[in-house]
Amino acid sequence: MGSSDLHESNCLPNGPAFCAMPGEGFNASGKTFDNSVSSGGDFDYWKHLWWNHETGHTMGLVDLYSYNGGGEFHFTGDWSIMGNINGAGGEYFAWERWLLDWVDDSNVACVDAGNVSVTLTALEQATLSPSGDVRMAVAKLNRTAGVACEFRAGIGHDSAIPQPGVLVYVVNTAVASGNGTLAVLGAAADDATMLRATLSQPGDAVSFGGVTVTLAAPLKPGVEATVIVSTPCLPTVNCFAPAEACRGGVCVPA
Ligand SMILES: [Zn+2]
Repeated sequence: MGSSDLHESNCLPNGPAFCAMPGEGFNASGKTFDNSVSSGGDFDYWKHLWWNHETGHTMGLVDLYSYNGGGEFHFTGDWSIMGNINGAGGEYFAWERWLLDWVDDSNVACVDAGNVSVTLTALEQATLSPSGDVRMAVAKLNRTAGVACEFRAGIGHDSAIPQPGVLVYVVNTAVASGNGTLAVLGAAADDATMLRATLSQPGDAVSFGGVTVTLAAPLKPGVEATVIVSTPCLPTVNCFAPAEACRGGVCVPA
């Protein structure tokens, strides 16, 4: 029996994160703890990456792997440490970074109906500039869901990805943790890692819910990528009555 076996037999099997509802934290030595991470046997398996994943939960991020089969990582493959902890594309999604305030509202392009050109700065670059630094474009599908895209440049925690490019995914905030809150688009059904789902050559495109994201120009490696986001107009979603009406796929004055 190795030290790992001893650890797993004597400790909690898993080291989950604990996030209390307001007023329901636990008290010790006169202090209230509203969130925590406990170390279990899975620490021996995942090593330090376990800590980074669980700490993501304490800051409000959900699990991106599947609780209900269908392939444990069929939603996001190897992308984001909140999915496959050992995945090659371990950076948090831009959507997750935005939730954490690591990407500001000013670094997000909310795309209106039409064909909109967006230049995306490499997600992994640490420094945000105050203007012209777009890390994510989002096209709204309805009140809770949208299609998002970001440029995974293959640097930092993504240095092992085989195909840098624009990663496109659907986000639905009405879907609970472990049930597909995020799902990567453009991957083959049998592609467990989804690492080649990125748009890497001009003209590469992926569509979902009427929204199409097309890579419009050669990538500038490690720097930026330009896409065209084509979004149909959707009454009450991105065309707002009474000022606007949706005609022929375009919002027009009513
Ligand atoms: Zn988790």
